[in-house]
Amino acid sequence: MTDRRIGALKIALAAAAAAIAALGAVPLYRHRHDRVPIVPGPGVTSVLRLSDYVPSLKGSMADTDVFVLAGAKPGGKALIMANTHANEPAGLLTAFLLVENAVVEEGTLYVIPTFNASAGRNTKPGDGYPLYFSIPTSWGAKRFRLGNRDASPLEQWPDPDVYIHYPERQMLSYLDVRNTNRTWPGRPDGPLMERVTYAAMELLRREKIDVAIDMHGAETMFPVTNCIVAPTKSSKIATLVSMTVKAMEGFDNHVEPSPGNFRGLSHREIGDFADTMPFLLEAPIPFLDQPTGPKTEKLLLDGRDPFLLGLARAHKLFVPYDAAGWPMDKRVGQHCSVSLEILRQFTKKYPEKAIRLSAVPRYAELVANGTGRYLHDPAQADPKALRYE
Ligand SMILES: [Zn+2]
Repeated sequence: MTDRRIGALKIALAAAAAAIAALGAVPLYRHRHDRVPIVPGPGVTSVLRLSDYVPSLKGSMADTDVFVLAGAKPGGKALIMANTHANEPAGLLTAFLLVENAVVEEGTLYVIPTFNASAGRNTKPGDGYPLYFSIPTSWGAKRFRLGNRDASPLEQWPDPDVYIHYPERQMLSYLDVRNTNRTWPGRPDGPLMERVTYAAMELLRREKIDVAIDMHGAETMFPVTNCIVAPTKSSKIATLVSMTVKAMEGFDNHVEPSPGNFRGLSHREIGDFADTMPFLLEAPIPFLDQPTGPKTEKLLLDGRDPFLLGLARAHKLFVPYDAAGWPMDKRVGQHCSVSLEILRQFTKKYPEKAIRLSAVPRYAELVANGTGRYLHDPAQADPKALRYE
């Protein structure tokens, strides 16, 4: 081949590689800039931003909405967070459902639907994650982004070799510097994700929040699943909640103690650095288990997998599992009922700090009616009131 021909071949190959890269980048760019409308319901009285507590977050992809639902009567205060891990979306759906439906009779509720907002715009291409999932409603399918466990490196980069937790100096995996369930309590001038958790700590301290609930999902093969994780200060209420949902609503949700020597987690640091009772909820999410079939939208939503079924027969799972899988409506129902029951038990124990909600469905209603029944049509809402997550 002549030099000229080799040159032309090189140019053609480089152009083909650039075209393939561009084609691959377009869906990722669209996913990163996608906006999911949320219809603030009758309970929403104002919308704050995390940057109101740490101004340096302003204008970054890490800033996010904080919905405030102030009741007619004063009382206690609660914060409910979702998408700390944006690949565990039962919490996200529960947060949407609270913002769009909840009415606060007494006390104040704060809801952060996309706590790690950057992770909600990230994905895990190596695991073949779908970029989106849809929930059927009477007015059509509502599409949500599926995110990743960690914030995008486009927001925070490079990663250190080892993440040294602040302030305990415990050595954690390098990836945990972008994991907002390892960067609590954070600091105002730390890496971006430490500033996100610090902003939430400031919200808890300045607004004097009594109860914080962080909603997650965990693998069926992981022992800390289908449970409420609580430190000593929250454990009595967590135990009452676990017993009540089992007796009254028929589902299991055991209590796991928050380990004192494992740092950076919300259920540990919130209780240690604020006058708040933290609870972390784990609903089973078969999609995250390693030995499953393809990571499809269907698996994300119905939790049915033949390999997990085989493992259940061999007693390798930590939750009951059969051919019905573990559908999303069941997981959202658990998050709703457990959150409502935490607030009810807290109100019983501290009546002067009552937090009473209405118009939020519980487990049986979600299983019977589906999550989509409680999502409102943005096309029918006042466009000025809509927010985008
Ligand atoms: Zn999680």
